[in-house]
Amino acid sequence: DQLGPTVCVGEILVEIVATTVGNGFMEAQPLVGPFASGAPAIFISQCGRLGGSAAMIGAVGTDDFGRVNLERLKGDGVDISAISIDPDYPTGSAFVRYREDGSRDFVYNIATSAAARFGWSEGVSNLIDRAGHLHVMGSALSVSSACEVIDKAVDIVKTRGGTLSVDPNIRKELKLDEATERRFARLVAVADLLLPSGEELERAAGVEGETNAIRRLFEIGVKEIVLKRGADGATYYSREGERIDAPAFIVAEIDPTGAGDCFGGAYLTCRRLGMPAADALTYAAAAGARNVTVVGPMEGAGTREQLDAFIATTERRS
Ligand code: ATP
Ligand code: MG
Repeated sequence: DQLGPTVCVGEILVEIVATTVGNGFMEAQPLVGPFASGAPAIFISQCGRLGGSAAMIGAVGTDDFGRVNLERLKGDGVDISAISIDPDYPTGSAFVRYREDGSRDFVYNIATSAAARFGWSEGVSNLIDRAGHLHVMGSALSVSSACEVIDKAVDIVKTRGGTLSVDPNIRKELKLDEATERRFARLVAVADLLLPSGEELERAAGVEGETNAIRRLFEIGVKEIVLKRGADGATYYSREGERIDAPAFIVAEIDPTGAGDCFGGAYLTCRRLGMPAADALTYAAAAGARNVTVVGPMEGAGTREQLDAFIATTERRS
């Protein structure tokens, strides 16, 4: 952490959630929100809440949805100096409704919102010049302004001895254009920490099978991998061949959105604060599990004290 803050780049949104289960938004219905959201914002919120030095790059509009996010992140201790405020476009938003089978219907406004309208500014440059770690979400790679920032930031942070983590966050079926695919492969190759979930592991490695994928990723240059498996827990792999399985905590899942982002933010922050992998995994599993017990994508992100209490009182799967 001495080297400087953990920085995350990407979409900042509000999420508005249907309070009933069903299909889509074709009839008037009860909703709850706005909740602060966006995968990169959830990640950095969890970093800040755990007491890590954290900063966010992105954009919001001059509206209440933007203020909800700015106040939330500031309250979590996140440096918001490199979040720009767009005078012309509204803050990004996502309406979400869970279906009976657990899948979700969305109405997004991201590409044509402030969320996609930021770039390499003086504030961003000042932040990156003192950053110790950069976290990249695969989902941010579909936003061209985010790519411009990420490309420059990776070089600067790495050159000054900082580190990079990548959450692929790209579904296996999703075809990216050639330039994005190349950018993604380059990011994976220089990642100090890779945080894939399920099949994203094979997607990032470009080979089938967990063992093959892990081997391939270490060959490419990845330093450390933590594979997320939802309610089945998570597994840490080191280049030296060490494996640590972290069983999930047993909770009632109310809202699964944001589990992976809280898990990743907690794991990374604990590692940067000097914790061994096994302890960081426990906090990460607790952060992911605690977040799914609360409605809202980052409402359940815990502080160190809250996670300690959660760990002390919650059973784990065997
Ligand atoms: P997201 O839906 O946010 O993209 P993800 O797919 O990246 O999530 P998950 O594997 O769903 O990541 O969740 C991350 C971690 O959070 C898991 O490895 C687990 O430790 C914890 N977790 C997630 N869901 C549950 C659950 N229902 N019960 C207990 N722990 C959970
Ligand atoms: Mg994920």
